[in-house]
Amino acid sequence: MKTNSKAEPTVFVIFGGTGDLAWRKLAPALYNLFLDGWLPEHFSIIGTGRTKLNDDEFREKLAEGINKFSRNGKIKKEQWDVFSKNVYYQVSDLNNAKTYQELDSRIQAYQEDWKQNANVIHYLAVSPNFFPIIAENVAKNGLEAYAERTRIVIEKPFGHDLESAKALNKLLQGLFDERQIYRIDHYLGKETVQNIMAFRFANAILEPLWNRNFIEHVQISVTEQLGVEDRGGYYDGSGAMRDMVQNHILQLLCLIAMEAPINFDADEVRNRRVDVLRAMRRFTGEEIQNSAVRGQYGHGWIEGKEVAGYRHEPEVAPDSNTETFAAVKFFVDSWRWQGVPFYVRTGKHLSQSASVITIQFKSVPHCVFPQEAIENWQQNRLIISIQPEMSIRLQVQAKRPGLEMVLNPVDMVFDYSGTYEGKPPEAYETLLLDTMLGDQTLFMRGDQVEAAWELIMPILHAWENKKSLSFPNYTAGSWGPENAEALIARDGFHWFTLPLNGKH
Ligand code: NAP
Repeated sequence: MKTNSKAEPTVFVIFGGTGDLAWRKLAPALYNLFLDGWLPEHFSIIGTGRTKLNDDEFREKLAEGINKFSRNGKIKKEQWDVFSKNVYYQVSDLNNAKTYQELDSRIQAYQEDWKQNANVIHYLAVSPNFFPIIAENVAKNGLEAYAERTRIVIEKPFGHDLESAKALNKLLQGLFDERQIYRIDHYLGKETVQNIMAFRFANAILEPLWNRNFIEHVQISVTEQLGVEDRGGYYDGSGAMRDMVQNHILQLLCLIAMEAPINFDADEVRNRRVDVLRAMRRFTGEEIQNSAVRGQYGHGWIEGKEVAGYRHEPEVAPDSNTETFAAVKFFVDSWRWQGVPFYVRTGKHLSQSASVITIQFKSVPHCVFPQEAIENWQQNRLIISIQPEMSIRLQVQAKRPGLEMVLNPVDMVFDYSGTYEGKPPEAYETLLLDTMLGDQTLFMRGDQVEAAWELIMPILHAWENKKSLSFPNYTAGSWGPENAEALIARDGFHWFTLPLNGKH
C-alpha cells in the first residue's frame, strides 16, 4: 500500500481514449495526479480510438472532460501546456494487428528517448468484447521486451456470469502473470471505502465489538435516483445483481466482514477479502425466494419530474425481465459472524442517491430507564456514509438537555468536509496511481471475482428461469418493492436511510 512513493517512468495506453470513461474519469484523474506531483518526470499518455483526431484535437477533447469533471476545476494554461505535451493519440482499430505494432514502436521510442525503461500500462476502457483481442495482442507485441513492467487494467464488468469470468481469467492468466492484471472495482478506490480498513484496524476499541456478540445486523444500501439514462442497451443485458451486487456491494461487505490482515501487502489483504466470499452461505432452491428480492421500476416522479417506467426506456425490451432493484439477505458462516444477517439493497430510480453501510449493535442487556425516558430509544449504530456525504458516525444515546431525564440518539461524527480542507482524490486517481506503482491491494484478484460470481449465480439462475409476473413492482421515486421491506421486516428490522443533512 502506497505511502509517498512516486511512479517510475510510465507509458499509459488508453484503449478507448475517445470514450466516455476516458473523458469523464481517466483524463481528470491523470491530470490531477500530475497537478499533485504524483506523475513521474517521464510519462506519456496515448489514447486510441477509430475516430479520426490528431494529437491536438485529442488533447482538446480531454481538456473539455477535465474542465467539466475535475475536482480541481478548470485547467490553467501553464500547467496544462506541460501536461498535454505528453498526451498523444493514435487512430486505430482494435481488430487490426497493425494497431498493436504501432503502439509497440511508440512505446519503444519513448523508452529510447528517455534512456530509461518504463512501466507500460494498458488500460482497457472499451467494451468487454475487446478484452480478449487486446490482451492477446498486447502479450504478442513487445511484451517480452518489458514483461515485468507491463500491466493490463480491466474495467468492469469482469464477465457476465461465472463461466465467462472463468474463461476471461483463464485467458488473461495464460498470457500474463496475476501480478500484471489489475481488475478494477472503482468502489475500492473511494476515500471512505479505503477508510473502512483504517477505521477497523487502527482503532483498538472496535475489534472487541466487531463480531456476533455485539453486532445485531449489517445493512449495505447503494441506492440511485437516476434511472438507466442512455445505458438501456447495456443495462437490459445486465441488471442490478450483476451491475452492483456482484462487484461493489460484495466488496464493501468483504471490507466489513474480513479478518485483520497480517500486514498491508496486497495479497495479505486480498486473501482476507476472498475468505469472506468463501465463507458466505450459498443459496439453494427455496432459500432464494426467502432471501432475495428483485424489482423493476414503473412510471413515477423524481423530485417533481415525471419519469418513464423501465420498460419504456430507450433500448429496453417492452417485456424486459431485467431487475433494476435487488435486495439480498446474506450470511457469513464463520465464528465471527455466525447468525448475523447482512442485508444489502441496490436500485435505480429510488427516492435518494446514497451509498451507506450501517452496523447496528445489539441492545443493552437491561434498560434501567423509565418508559417516558426512552421513547426515542435507538440501538447504537455505526454509519459509514460513502456518498454523497462522506462521513463515519456513531449513534449513541444521550440525555436531552432539560430538567427531565429523556434520552435521545445523538451522533459522534467524523465528517470529511468538516475535518479536512479541499476535496479528497477521486477513486480513479487512487487506482490509476496504484497501477503505476504496482500496488494491487485495491484491485480484485482472479479468485475473488470468481468467488463473487459463484455466490450470486444461483440467484441469477432462479430469476432468469422464472420471469417475474409482477414487474414493474415499484414506483420510480419510491424505496423499492414492498417485498424488500418484508425481507428485513420479517426479522424485526427496517431499512435505514440517512437524512441528507445528517440531522436526526
Ligand atoms: P464508450 O463511451 O462506448 O467508449 C468506447 C470506446 O471504444 C471508444 O473510445 C471507441 O472509440 C472505442 N472503440 C470501439 N470500437 C473500437 C474499435 N473497433 N477499435 C478501436 N476502438 C474502438 O464506452 P465507455 O462508457 O467509455 O466504457 C468503456 C468501458 O468502461 C466499458 O467496459 C464499460 O463497461 C466500462 N465502464 C465505464 C464507465 C463509465 O462511466 N463510462 C464506468 C464503469 C465502467 P471510437 O468510437 O473512436 O472508435
